[in-house]
Amino acid sequence: MNGLMMEYPLTLDRIIEHAGRMFPHKHIRTKRPDGGMHDYTYADLHRRSRRLSAALVALGVEPGDRVGTFAWNHYQHLEMYFGIPGAGAVCHTLNVRLFPKQLAYIVNHAEDKVVFIDASVLPLYEKVSAEIGGVQHHVLVNAPPDIETTLPNVLHYEDLIAAADDNFAWRSTDEQMAMGLCYTSGTTGDPKGALYSHRSMFLHTLGENQAMGLGLTETDVVLPVVPQFHAMAWGLPYACTLAGADVVMPGPHLQPAALAELIESQQVTVAAGVPSIWNGLYHELQAAPRDISCVRALVVGGSAMPRSLIEGYERELRVNVIQAWGMTELSPLGTVSKLQRHHLGLTEAEQLDIKALQGTPLGGVDLRIVSDDGVELPWDGETMGELQARGPWVIRSYFKREPTSEHFTADGWFRTGDVATMTPDGYMRITDRTKDLVKSGGEWISTVALEGALMAHDGVLEAAVIAVPDDKWSERPLAVVVRTAEGGADTDELRRLLGDQFAKFEIPDRFVFVDALPKTSVGKFDKKVLRARVADGTL
Ligand code: ADP
Repeated sequence: MNGLMMEYPLTLDRIIEHAGRMFPHKHIRTKRPDGGMHDYTYADLHRRSRRLSAALVALGVEPGDRVGTFAWNHYQHLEMYFGIPGAGAVCHTLNVRLFPKQLAYIVNHAEDKVVFIDASVLPLYEKVSAEIGGVQHHVLVNAPPDIETTLPNVLHYEDLIAAADDNFAWRSTDEQMAMGLCYTSGTTGDPKGALYSHRSMFLHTLGENQAMGLGLTETDVVLPVVPQFHAMAWGLPYACTLAGADVVMPGPHLQPAALAELIESQQVTVAAGVPSIWNGLYHELQAAPRDISCVRALVVGGSAMPRSLIEGYERELRVNVIQAWGMTELSPLGTVSKLQRHHLGLTEAEQLDIKALQGTPLGGVDLRIVSDDGVELPWDGETMGELQARGPWVIRSYFKREPTSEHFTADGWFRTGDVATMTPDGYMRITDRTKDLVKSGGEWISTVALEGALMAHDGVLEAAVIAVPDDKWSERPLAVVVRTAEGGADTDELRRLLGDQFAKFEIPDRFVFVDALPKTSVGKFDKKVLRARVADGTL
């Protein structure tokens, strides 16, 4: 027998309508390119998002068309997050830090019909526009009216909004309609598209706002440092809007000093970004102290947050760090690391150990770890296996690709490509990505664990460990280290440090000191580049 409840489509227009009614007075503040603050409310966001939808329909955008955004985090980009899906179209966020070739590949693969482009990144887009076919309209955002551009069919964002109809009925009528498209950053191969539906994103929003998730409320002031072009800014724009939290957008100002100033002046309570951002902020605050104790949750994800950095924030700056794990393919949030009641009696050091784990699955996400031959492994905190996930906000296929056994199991799970352990009480620890593990003499070595230990040294700013081919052991770890300005760490010292925590065979044979580590477009250590440098003998 079926239940007798309403068929109520879970579409994102419900979220912005809710905010328009409940939180019309709450603020969205954006740091403008010139450094000033733009300030408006959810009432404005609501009105302008609807106008944007109307404008897109007037331009000829049809349900299911892809509309690209090439922009930093700001209020107009929030309007696109609602206005594009509200027109029945798909909001395809483009990473402004992509190599030109990849950018052209992605726009062409997605067949974007309209692209919104920030004036500040217009030259990057112009460089590849000749290789892009099919875009019918380019809409410039934050551009002076007399801006010169080589792009054809150019419109200005404010003109588009001004000419649009206020009486527009949202076109997102079916919760299964696609609403967003985001390509993986390609750390492990060609970029692949995750195509979200209204339903999946709505449920992700509810999942994210669970108390054991990020649990945003109306009392929060949220700073998404994670770019809107990276995994939908981890879903924060929707979670904030549903909760009625104030939003602070950094625009292009992502340097540590600018972030420190923004957090303090706006009294931010929740800030979210990748570890390299928080590493930079931590060192900035050491050099130029500011009071950021307003932050109740410093959310970090995208790569493992070194335990030493969590400790620095918690002990010295009195800031609560919350680690989260996710993937573009999971919309992206999968786990969040918060203490449970049975941890309350633990020592501070033991509690930090828990916070350094990737966390427990959100209600709505199933996780399991599996051996190479497909056998499910125990949750004992030690056994490592491939992490697999399923749930209503996990992809079942990549955009325009058949699901294959490389990414999906026969019994309906998504293969994350991460290697993890699970504790008996459900805390996941990423030990590596399958492609980054070092296999030495038949034993697996976790590069993530070595990197965390190295970065705990005062003299080490960043460290990446990669596998290098070895005749005897098949692979050996190599550590590539960036020292802090004060210097300090040398090979012997680092070897001694690791000797206290790791088996002999796990300690890298070679330590190379460099000025900077190559990073991917989303700020992760780019191990592909490091491996290529080893191969061509430059490392
Ligand atoms: P890409 O797959 O191109 O790197 P994503 O941004 O989707 O793009 O990255 C997802 C991956 O990032 C995960 O599979 C995992 O390896 C890594 N990751 C995300 N969060 C964490 C975390 N808190 N700790 C360790 N690794 C993480």
